[in-house]
Amino acid sequence: MSAQSSSATRRSTTAAETNNSLDNSSRPGRPGPDELVPSRYALRVGEIDVLVVSDGVLSLPTRMLAYNADPACLAGWLKDMFLPPEMLDWPLNAVVVRSGAQTVLIDAGLGVDPDLDLPRAGRLALRLEAAGIDFASVTDVVLTHLHMDHVGGLLADGMRDRLRPDLRVHLAAAEAEFWASADFSRTSMPPGFPDALWQAAKRFLNEYHSQLRPFEAEYEVAPGVIACRTGGHTPGHSVVRLASGGDRLTFVGDAVFQVGFEQPEWHNGFEHDPEEAARVRVRLLRELAATGEPLVATHLSFPSVCHVAVAGDVFRWVPAVWKY
Ligand SMILES: [Zn+2]
Repeated sequence: MSAQSSSATRRSTTAAETNNSLDNSSRPGRPGPDELVPSRYALRVGEIDVLVVSDGVLSLPTRMLAYNADPACLAGWLKDMFLPPEMLDWPLNAVVVRSGAQTVLIDAGLGVDPDLDLPRAGRLALRLEAAGIDFASVTDVVLTHLHMDHVGGLLADGMRDRLRPDLRVHLAAAEAEFWASADFSRTSMPPGFPDALWQAAKRFLNEYHSQLRPFEAEYEVAPGVIACRTGGHTPGHSVVRLASGGDRLTFVGDAVFQVGFEQPEWHNGFEHDPEEAARVRVRLLRELAATGEPLVATHLSFPSVCHVAVAGDVFRWVPAVWKY
């Protein structure tokens, strides 16, 4: 332990000396070897290769986690979880899956948006490059929904040219329809977010129009890789089920947040239909608790691989032990 700490200190010192900054974002090009936390985690689900990749973190007010809850209850929960009271770094995870001859990117991170002051996200492209994944090898993209932290990476400068012309982009038909005249009346987002999210979704639908492959309820994107519409968070919100050789894993997107295990009825400010989002969350958590199957999620602490346990009439988050 002490050897690890002193080595981490040495690496920090070196990085600070050479870059005058510990933040790799200040340096163009690849993430350096001095990144102090890992940004990718590989696992297998039967014959399917899975890579969880961190796009970075989104710093957001904690109130967003539970805007229908008594502030004192939220404050108590944050304290119990050793989380800060005002601003919280939301992890932002995407996934790359290889099944059969296909390489499938599930969600695409934030990309770049100078208006939202979220400078510590948008790393997906750099980190995929660092993992040796060429964008031209991606045959399919699945989008859990069209919020900017899931689709913005596809709108970054030059990205479209790096992707293959026959790329297929899968999303629920209801999601594409929703963003034509999106309803934010039930959300509770920081100022500027509704407009930025709407603009990004519309821009995406416009730019990728010819590549969209909308599905109704579910669609098998690649062998054992099935996108399933849940609704709730957004009308076309979808999860991605992976199944191969008896193994399973579900990418639940924004259906489950950390607070959602113990407080599944708390409304997240980004949910367009919060009551339905809570029903979807409880249904998924019940199912995964019953089967014991692992999940990964966009905004759970990286790499987010975990199990669901039942704790009385709510749930308990059980992070999976890392496999080496
Ligand atoms: Zn999200």
